Amino acid sequence: MDEQAFRLEVRQFIHKHFPEEWRFPSYRLSLRKTESWQRMLHEKGWGAPSWPREYGGMGLNPYEQIIFQDEMDKAGVNIAPNAGITMLGPLLIRYGSEEQKKSYLPDIMSGKTIWAQGYSEPGAGSDLANLRTSAVLDGDHFVVNGQKIWTSFAHEADMIFLLVRTDKDAKKQEGISFLLVDMKSPGITVKRITNISGHSEFCEVFFDNVRVPQDSMVGAINKGWSMAKSLLGSERITLGSPKIAKYPLSLLKNLAEDKGLFADPVFTSRYTEIKMDVDDLNAAFVRFADVLRRGEELGPEVSLLKIWITEAFQRVTDMLVEYAGEHGCVDEMLVLSQGSTLHPANQYFISRPSTIYGGTNEVQRNILAKAVLQLPG
Ligand SMILES: Cc1cc2nc3c(=O)[nH]c(=O)nc-3n(C[C@H](O)[C@H](O)[C@H](O)COP(=O)(O)OP(=O)(O)OC[C@H]3O[C@@H](n4cnc5c(N)ncnc54)[C@H](O)[C@@H]3O)c2cc1C
Repeated sequence: MDEQAFRLEVRQFIHKHFPEEWRFPSYRLSLRKTESWQRMLHEKGWGAPSWPREYGGMGLNPYEQIIFQDEMDKAGVNIAPNAGITMLGPLLIRYGSEEQKKSYLPDIMSGKTIWAQGYSEPGAGSDLANLRTSAVLDGDHFVVNGQKIWTSFAHEADMIFLLVRTDKDAKKQEGISFLLVDMKSPGITVKRITNISGHSEFCEVFFDNVRVPQDSMVGAINKGWSMAKSLLGSERITLGSPKIAKYPLSLLKNLAEDKGLFADPVFTSRYTEIKMDVDDLNAAFVRFADVLRRGEELGPEVSLLKIWITEAFQRVTDMLVEYAGEHGCVDEMLVLSQGSTLHPANQYFISRPSTIYGGTNEVQRNILAKAVLQLPG
């Protein structure tokens, strides 16, 4: 593939079809709100960048996927991650039965079915293998009981994929299975959680004797853990994309120009330091992306990207709030003199969970300490 031509084609497609009023939203858009965009991507054959062509995907290699995502980021396309496309689809392609592939993949790709990811529980986050939501076989159904938490957009989802405990006596990781559940099943209750910025993306999902057909299990019973883990590979570089900090940095620059902040040597020094960090990260990111381009596997050192970029992101948004003065701590859009807009508080709030999702930064540091620096555990 001619990478430059592909980049240009993606850019032009977004420019032509992605609604202007959805660009650079102050908060990420939901899948339900952007169904028409998902349909358009699907019609173009771009619904599932990472899936193989034989399943209707684009068949992009990891490096090409980065180009695709890069163009989305540059154009301000900020939509909640589609767990069906990024997580469930690849898992079904690899481990699902032919029947499961046929019944689920087409509707995931067209955006007709929205999926939620039901992994985390009140006592199982970083240590996910502690999960306790149980599934017990009763005739030809599993009966599910328990609770999931931090389930993004569960209130909009048609279906949920769950990690459930199917053997209480086995070693923690060896008693877990992977189950597909219809959100309309009797016994499911969804409670939305409102976060500090007033948004309710997260939910708690309760399961009270929910009956799930036995053939909704993916793979063999008690093999769910290794299946779910095997898919985390290329996600680790996407979470470390420098774009995460570049956009708020450009907002900080706009604000600084508007308020004449570059005349202040303290501001200029802080801004320059952070800008150089982001530029360094960009260089490191390109190096890791090159590993993928050569078709090689990423090593554990890729964890440094996620730590570095999310912490830079938070430093930038700290500065946005600080230098926006009285506009920094209220829920309002600041209109700058060049006509551009900025919502400092929203940027601040968006940056906070970035050090938690996708494996917390402390856990990433543990990986670096053990697997790269070979420090004792
Ligand atoms: C924006 C966002 C979206 C999410 N969406 C979903 C979703 O759709 N579905 C889903 O299932 N989950 C989702 N999550 C949950 C996410 O996966 C968990 O928050 C994450 O795994 C951390 O778990 P926890 O919140 O229970 O924190 P804990 O694991 O309890 O961690 C608490 C603190 O202790 C630290 N810590 C934990 N273990 C160690 C250790 N061994 N060494 C050092 N420090 C440690 C952590 O770094 C953290 O600072 C989402 C989270 C966020 C922020």
